[in-house]
Amino acid sequence: MMDRLAVIGDPVGHSLSPQIHMTWIDGLGMDASYESIRVPAGETADALERFAQNSFRGLNVTLPHKQAVVESASDLSPAVKVIGAANTLSRKPDGTWRADNTDAPGLMSALSRINVRDVAGKTVLVLGAGGAARAALYALDEAGAGLIVLNRTVEKAEKVIDSCCQRSHEYGSLADMEQYARKADLIINTTSAGYTGEHFHLPQGDGRLFFDISYGKPAAAQLDHASECGWRAEDGLGMLVCQAAESFRIWFGGELPDIEPALAVCRETLKSYQ
Ligand code: NDP
Repeated sequence: MMDRLAVIGDPVGHSLSPQIHMTWIDGLGMDASYESIRVPAGETADALERFAQNSFRGLNVTLPHKQAVVESASDLSPAVKVIGAANTLSRKPDGTWRADNTDAPGLMSALSRINVRDVAGKTVLVLGAGGAARAALYALDEAGAGLIVLNRTVEKAEKVIDSCCQRSHEYGSLADMEQYARKADLIINTTSAGYTGEHFHLPQGDGRLFFDISYGKPAAAQLDHASECGWRAEDGLGMLVCQAAESFRIWFGGELPDIEPALAVCRETLKSYQ
């Protein structure tokens, strides 16, 4: 029987996940489909029951359901328990759902893909304290990085460290970014500030990495500014494909699928949006 997969969210029409997964499904000659399905906020639990009855094998989850699915899943990965959000669901034999978070390993694979393989002992400046930051902090803390978390709402920066990290780290206000940026080995921007066309002012980068987990238009102004200031600027498309690859492996087992062809397809699609 054909394996059915989907990404659920609202809005979800913009999602690149179907293209990413279909690249692998077609490339590997698998009998599977991957759809994008709009599920409005507040309808998460009912939708999951319906998808289980309709024999979906797995789901990716995007806004606004990443937290709500944790309530409905019967089995949570250790990372989901800490992060409090999941982006990957797998149907269990009894029709209930197992929840995983692949944003955390996806970030680390994406960094590794661009030759940042060991962050232990490095000072990583993380901008933002929302859902994506929670996954990033969990992964970076586990990997031994020294973290500085800056957020517009400072109390949230303190809270995410408390809930997602085993070790203690610095935190502060985005208003003091330039001062902290001077001592960072790399910066990871997890904020959604780019959606309003804003960007943070950076000091000279001297070839250090500025990694923005956003991609396309929302990341463009920030990445242009980072490049102009001498940072090595990278967008979050690699992370998107790497987290998808982790989901694919959870559903089908075996090795991680090849990142590069799926990434090339996404880059072409983003170009067509410009
Ligand atoms: P959340 O809404 O959970 O968090 C948003 C964060 O951005 C908060 O820290 C918020 O600060 C901050 N923020 C929003 N607007 C501004 C602003 N104008 N100035 C300063 N800070 C601001 O979003 P997520 O964490 O879920 O997602 C963040 C981004 O990451 C999105 O662009 C999303 O597309 C991207 N993403 C990319 C992934 C990938 O695979 N590449 C995976 C997941 C997310 P405050 O707390 O003060 O409100």
